Amino acid sequence: MMETDKYLFDLNQDQLKDYFVSIGEPPYRVEQLWNASYTHFAQDFNQVTAFPVRLRSQLACDMHFSHLKTVERFASTDGETIKNLFTLPDGNLIESVLMHYNERKTLCISSQSGCAMGCVFCATGQMGFRRNLSAGEVIEQVLFLGRELSQSGEKITNIVIMGMGEPFHNYDAVLEAIDRLNDPNGLNLGARRFTISTVGIVPGIRRFAAEKRQVNLAISLHAANDTLRSVLIPANRKYPLSSLMEACGEYIRQTNRRLTFEWALIRDVNDSVEHARELAVLLKGLLCHVNIIPLNPTTSYHGKATTEEQAQEFKRVLENNGIPCTIRARRGIDIAAGCGQLAARRA
Ligand code: SAH
Ligand code: SF4
Repeated sequence: MMETDKYLFDLNQDQLKDYFVSIGEPPYRVEQLWNASYTHFAQDFNQVTAFPVRLRSQLACDMHFSHLKTVERFASTDGETIKNLFTLPDGNLIESVLMHYNERKTLCISSQSGCAMGCVFCATGQMGFRRNLSAGEVIEQVLFLGRELSQSGEKITNIVIMGMGEPFHNYDAVLEAIDRLNDPNGLNLGARRFTISTVGIVPGIRRFAAEKRQVNLAISLHAANDTLRSVLIPANRKYPLSSLMEACGEYIRQTNRRLTFEWALIRDVNDSVEHARELAVLLKGLLCHVNIIPLNPTTSYHGKATTEEQAQEFKRVLENNGIPCTIRARRGIDIAAGCGQLAARRA
């Protein structure tokens, strides 16, 4: 076991520069290391071939290259969805999912191990909160899957922070990770290719609005009245719909960007024509779009997915009220890689 708890992907360029200077190396080492790890997906310090061998060994003594170890890899039967289960150095587990939609290669990454929000229909909520991920641990999920894709000549096109955890409960680390992945000298993935999904943490939405970023934002709504929403999403008791919708309005005013609202359709719970009408009233006049997710099964929630016909009916009501709506394709359900199914369990 190494003595150090320094971890490459937790360090920004300035911190790395200080490190290299402290060991008597020129500052351009940062660029070389950055290029090897963020652009060429090096797997360890030994693959940083621009460095002399003694420098590679010194780095390997001074810091960890990696925090993530793959424990298991699951592929859906259609081969389009791959889920990776990783352990962190303290034994906590996280999952990340890679989805192939023709040319689109979307990564769904985790912001926490577990989640403290306790949404009743979500497997991550059902497992409880373990801990926040560091910025480096968020980044490394992307680089790991980016490396896999690069081996077949492919590239990440989109990143959604919709895996385990509530990203606005770990705001600084998540945004730092996005900034780093956005860096033109590294992975260089445009801000508009990222989507953060939040359960509706109002201070987080307001802070994000004030930062006027180009990163997309999705809000998990699932109910358009406080009584039902508080049952499904306990966080609604702290941030009820009135304050949530005000914050959403603020986000749209500040950024002029279209907001996405997510709605998991649960049979006989939130899928009726009346529910759709209530939602249409709530969203009236907002620059937004609704993404319907047919409920995915989880062990501790007995709600059922809505039928295809009912989902279409729900969509029609929204569209008739001028609200654009899409039904999210169900992917990776056979390997429990669908929305809300990430529970970090071994097969
Ligand atoms: N914590 C964030 C992001 C992770 S959850 C959030 O809640 O937004 C990603 C999305 O999956 C959310 O919209 C969430 O409500 C949804 N989801 C959770 N459990 C689900 C399930 N069983 N079926 C379908 N969608 C689910
Ligand atoms: Fe956490 Fe999102 Fe799951 Fe709710 S839906 S428990 S916020 S991961």
